[in-house]
Amino acid sequence: MSGAGDDHDLHESLRTNVRDLCARFSDTYWRELEVDRAYPEAFVTTLTEAGYLASLIPEEYGGSGLGITEAAIILEEINRSGANSAACHAQMYIMGTLLRHGSDEQKARYLPAIASGRLRLQAFGVTEPTTGSDTTQLKTEAIRTGDRYVVNGQKVFISRAEHSDLLLLLVRTTPIDKVQKRSDGLSVLLVDMREAIGHGITIRPIRTMMNHATTELFIENLVVPVENLIGQEGKGFRYLLDGLNAERILIAAECVGDGRWFIERCRRYATERVVFGRPIGQNQGVQFPIATAHIKIEAANLMRDRAAELFDQGRPCGAEANMAKYLAAEASWEAANVAVQTFGGYGFAEDYDIERKFRETRLYQVAPVSTNLILSYVAEHVLGLPRSY
Ligand SMILES: Cc1cc2nc3c(=O)[nH]c(=O)nc-3n(C[C@H](O)[C@H](O)[C@H](O)COP(=O)(O)OP(=O)(O)OC[C@H]3O[C@@H](n4cnc5c(N)ncnc54)[C@H](O)[C@@H]3O)c2cc1C
Repeated sequence: MSGAGDDHDLHESLRTNVRDLCARFSDTYWRELEVDRAYPEAFVTTLTEAGYLASLIPEEYGGSGLGITEAAIILEEINRSGANSAACHAQMYIMGTLLRHGSDEQKARYLPAIASGRLRLQAFGVTEPTTGSDTTQLKTEAIRTGDRYVVNGQKVFISRAEHSDLLLLLVRTTPIDKVQKRSDGLSVLLVDMREAIGHGITIRPIRTMMNHATTELFIENLVVPVENLIGQEGKGFRYLLDGLNAERILIAAECVGDGRWFIERCRRYATERVVFGRPIGQNQGVQFPIATAHIKIEAANLMRDRAAELFDQGRPCGAEANMAKYLAAEASWEAANVAVQTFGGYGFAEDYDIERKFRETRLYQVAPVSTNLILSYVAEHVLGLPRSY
């Protein structure tokens, strides 16, 4: 059994090792990728080879069997280095669907390959153009004929689909007017993208304000063998919910990482930049916003630690995970804004990376879930207020 001291040492060495790895990928590396909106292939490969993306995969399947606390530390350190975990974070949280609900055969087939890096499971297809946040209304349908499903529909903002071998796809297998609850009748299919592209799936990249490799998927008569159904047919929405706490905690950690990166850059710049014969950071008008942003990041971090601790103990953590994501996304955005102000004109110059991280961290108030939906969760499920949708 490990004690608190052992955990502290493990976490510190994990942080040091991830930092050392990230230091091999400079600001210039990330900046240059932006020009062509290129995928950080070398970075993702290096992380995979070092085993970090397999941290949540149990040891029996070739992963390191660590907890969400450690996975969160890895993603936090990536973002804290100036890099962007969005290139690869999904592998950590969507793998849980396969681990918790996949059959023994599916787990034995895919998890060791994912852990070793032979296969990438980086894509999760939920969002659709006509239904957005209202997930249970999604229109992509899979009709079973014999031992296969035939899938038709459309997905939007499906990230890393071009860089992933596998896609977890949420589809409706029973029409909504034939189920008792609208959350019934949805299923998760594991799609092999190497076979599907050009044979049922067409990908159209969506250029966004940051380098994010997101895409639109057009699905036409895609054939998926029934053996690729994860868990039970019709229970897919439940499986999606099961993975949300992990996702919220990991995204919160990324935001904390972004926030700490902004604060550190502000601290250095405000100390070095001399205007009116004094470092700008000597002016309280400059230092107070930085201090305020720092306080908010550290407060969000406490909530993230609490949520991760509960998660790893197998205790309910929906409230804490959602609140951590909310607080951290707000705090990183405030830190980003303060950084632009602190850097003045240079905050807008690409060479300083502030504007890049500013764009990147803004995402987390919209995706993977928008702030309003988190507030709605807390209002309804934590405070018992009337359901609004
Ligand atoms: C870069 C990027 C990457 C993404 N990656 C993925 C991915 O890999 N896989 C995937 O499945 N999806 C992905 N998404 C989609 C993302 O999860 C959705 O954009 C998000 O869930 C919101 O859905 P929407 O864009 O359709 O907004 P809408 O649902 O149309 O909402 C628009 C606005 O209205 C608000 N709103 C809607 N209904 C209510 C309500 N009842 N009460 C209060 N406010 C409400 C929302 O909060 C939001 O601010 C990604 C999105 C982006 C931008």
